[in-house]
Amino acid sequence: MEKLPRLVIWLIMYCLSFLIFVSTISGDCWAEDFIIAIDIGHTINTPGATSARGVPEFLFNQNIGTLLHKQLRQDKRFKGSFIINETGEDISLSARAAIANQRGAHLLVSIHHDSVHPKDLSPWLCQGSIMPHCDKFTGYSIFYSEKNRRPLSSLIFAVILGSEMLQGGFCPTLHHAEYFRGGDKDLIDKTRGIYKYNNLVVLKEAKMPAVLFECGIIKNRNEELILGDPEYQHKMVVALFHAIKLFCSQPNIIESSQNNR
Ligand SMILES: [Zn+2]
Repeated sequence: MEKLPRLVIWLIMYCLSFLIFVSTISGDCWAEDFIIAIDIGHTINTPGATSARGVPEFLFNQNIGTLLHKQLRQDKRFKGSFIINETGEDISLSARAAIANQRGAHLLVSIHHDSVHPKDLSPWLCQGSIMPHCDKFTGYSIFYSEKNRRPLSSLIFAVILGSEMLQGGFCPTLHHAEYFRGGDKDLIDKTRGIYKYNNLVVLKEAKMPAVLFECGIIKNRNEELILGDPEYQHKMVVALFHAIKLFCSQPNIIESSQNNR
């Protein structure tokens, strides 16, 4: 599919926000067994960001990914859902997308926790060690790729997820916008915290709609503690779950196959 003109993106977002709030959800999915591939970002050996208190991002991702999987498995419509990289083995980004493709997932959600640009970090003393942190930014963000084979459906899921997050009382971070200025990287929706990031490998190589979800910023000392709170984690998983339920009850948009490889 060709890249989406900005007007189309805005139209989708405004139409969807209306539909989401007024439509009655039938509860029926367009696929009998709607399979979600939950990708746990990073690995034990390359764990991604490090929190303000020195905890590897992978452990945060693993926790939310596992909770989401448990929640999905309780609903028979999503019983085929699975986790990619449950144990944190070394695996490439392409291999993650390939697993989702091979197993016929209908939606890919890659779970991450966010960091900040090094220029925004400052040191603090944490349990006898000097650790970098940043309390300036807080919140979740959602990324989709126009190079994904289903860019429109990916954006629709991003809009639904952003709306559910807002309804759940979460706030997005806009700090990525400092470096995302048009072209392949852009802030698309300030209100819902949606960014276009075309070259994210796990998204662009997936054959199904896909988003990368940054749950929050673990470099922020307060947000790190909140993200570790089981009640907060449950609320976030519920927002993800509601978004998935709503997405699967939308009409299945068949997109042009120009992106087929
Ligand atoms: Zn990450």
